[in-house]
Amino acid sequence: MAVLNELLEYQKVDAELRKIEQEIAASDTRKKYVQAKKFLEVAASKLPAQDEHAVELRRLAQTLTERYREIKESIEEYSDLGEETEDGSEIAFYKRSAQALADSLRALKGEISKLASEIASACEEYKKMKEQTIAMQRQFKEYSAAFKKLKESRAAEIEALTARLDEIGKKIPKETLEKYKTKRKERIFPVIVPLTSGRCVCGMDFPIAQQSALSGGNVIECEHCHRFIYKE
Ligand SMILES: [Zn+2]
Repeated sequence: MAVLNELLEYQKVDAELRKIEQEIAASDTRKKYVQAKKFLEVAASKLPAQDEHAVELRRLAQTLTERYREIKESIEEYSDLGEETEDGSEIAFYKRSAQALADSLRALKGEISKLASEIASACEEYKKMKEQTIAMQRQFKEYSAAFKKLKESRAAEIEALTARLDEIGKKIPKETLEKYKTKRKERIFPVIVPLTSGRCVCGMDFPIAQQSALSGGNVIECEHCHRFIYKE
């Protein structure tokens, strides 16, 4: 490939474009925009699990309320018996039953207080989430507008550089240009590098026989990092 000068020129203009892209990417505006966007996406994905948890707590509360009602009814039945129970063995039986009911009530009380603390912590979590979501919605609104403005402020420069790249690109074989663009997308930069002490920038050695292929402005591909190599 004797397209060395064109490739180097292309890369020089591309470096300017890359600098703008990096400035935009490193800006506080973009960081705040991305942070809010990600938070809202994660929050939305958490909602079904939160709803499910709320349903589960409500179901548990219903079960406990039902049991409380049953025990209460049983206790009322016993208190209605009053003086009708004269027989000693019957009294012993009712005493045992009353004791069992008291035990059930105690256990139920424990479960209710556990549920109450679960509900309280779920409410706390929900409240915190809601506050954060509101703050992030505000941040998203503010910074998506600011980010759009930032991109617009650099649009003319980007357009001019892109037009120059297209112009230079016409002088480069399509296949070579595609390879360059692929590497650029893979965040390899610079894409075309000079052979230094018989090595590529990635450290790959080039045997003398292979180095001769570089004469006359030829460009070869590094087998290891797939950059384009040329001889200065
Ligand atoms: Zn290499």
